[in-house]
Amino acid sequence: MVSTDASTDLPLTLSTRRDQAVRAAVGQGLVGPAAPVAGLLDVAGIRASAASLRAAFDAVAAPGTEVLHAFAVKATPLVPVLRLLHEAGIGAEVASPGELALARAAGVPPARTVLDSPAKTPAELREALALGIAVNADNPQELARLDALVASAPTRSPIGVRVNPQIGAGSIGALSTATATSKFGVALRDEGAREWVVRAYLDRPWLTRLHTHSGSQGVPLELMAEGVRAAYELAEEINRAAGRQQIDTLDIGGGLPVNFASDEETPSYAAYARLLAASVPGLFDGRYGLVTEFGRSLLAKHGTTLALVEYAKQSGGRPIAVTHAGVQVATRTVYAPGSWPLRIAAYDAKGHPKTGPAVAQDVAGPACFAGDLLAEDRALPLLEAGDHAAALDTGAYYFAQHYSYNSLARPGVYGFTADADGGVRFATVRAPQTVEEIVAESGGDLRGALLDL
Ligand SMILES: *Cc1c(COP(=O)(O)O)cnc(C)c1O
Repeated sequence: MVSTDASTDLPLTLSTRRDQAVRAAVGQGLVGPAAPVAGLLDVAGIRASAASLRAAFDAVAAPGTEVLHAFAVKATPLVPVLRLLHEAGIGAEVASPGELALARAAGVPPARTVLDSPAKTPAELREALALGIAVNADNPQELARLDALVASAPTRSPIGVRVNPQIGAGSIGALSTATATSKFGVALRDEGAREWVVRAYLDRPWLTRLHTHSGSQGVPLELMAEGVRAAYELAEEINRAAGRQQIDTLDIGGGLPVNFASDEETPSYAAYARLLAASVPGLFDGRYGLVTEFGRSLLAKHGTTLALVEYAKQSGGRPIAVTHAGVQVATRTVYAPGSWPLRIAAYDAKGHPKTGPAVAQDVAGPACFAGDLLAEDRALPLLEAGDHAAALDTGAYYFAQHYSYNSLARPGVYGFTADADGGVRFATVRAPQTVEEIVAESGGDLRGALLDL
């Protein structure tokens, strides 16, 4: 009997689909001597996550509530992924001209796009307002720019202000956006800030949204809900002061953490939506439209980084597998291994799961510095030259965000579907970068540029 994935009702479990895809990727040469590392994306898993996000909020929101789930493009900035999500009913949250261009290339309409970012230029703001894209102002100076733009030309853009509820940090400081001194948004608990925000809305009838995003991986759900509650209470205060429902939409950000320790997809969107409904019931009573901005939780568990083991050696008694996946595809893990441990799965030369006694070994990358390790002292079946190592849960903020250390090539990315007969179909999402492209992108056409100065 074919095992099923209870959380998604898909005919195969996440790990079965992954194993089939690895086997097929090795068999078809997507990963091999010519292309020693690649990213694999599980299309059925992405679709299932998109569906569970929508269902979770539909289950707690009053009928008819407008909910826009805008995928945080930075998590997986790949046009076919944005297109797949768009078809699955998910919009885009963008934070740079590049991300906006990707969302537009994917066909995400302006009405389903939200522009955040702490450093929007006047040109970016003007373009967003001309297109009718929702904009969240980060600070008073940006609001002053918007004042001028709104006065100079009509816009369909819904506009809001991002506030920082200053509820504190999670376990990863670099991803905690709601600390007392965070660089994001208007710090709500600073002296006079709350009064300033209320006044800003009363003075600008076109401010109709309020935005907060309290953090990403490492922020507990309860703390996220506290941040959302703070934004909700501020919206209620503003609407009372305005004597009308001036703020009609609350943007509650993203940040659902991902379980990097097993294949279990926890916490679920449903659990978070239920927690929000319990702690901020007014959010869902139909008076407010909602925007969410999840990134990592939609994609992380659907990506696998698959790399060839080039050599297997010993150093100081420690076995070391030298693979082609390191800092260029797993930057956070390599630089901050304590915060970003990844599971590694061992596959043999044919792409079958490797068995055998677990041996503590290092799984190293190809880059030229000692710390380029995907995993240190990790107990796994002993990896040998020609085997494959897979870094799991890397669909968000990993291979999609190439770091060009040592001019290592951006790997190819392939979406796959796996069927119950063991068949796997692949589609190229991003072709592998060629050496010629590396030269061209590194000033290859400008060889003599420094000689004439
Ligand atoms: C990064 C970011 C997100 C997405 O966070 P995840 O942890 O990937 O869900 C959402 N909103 C804003 C403003 C962000 O900066």
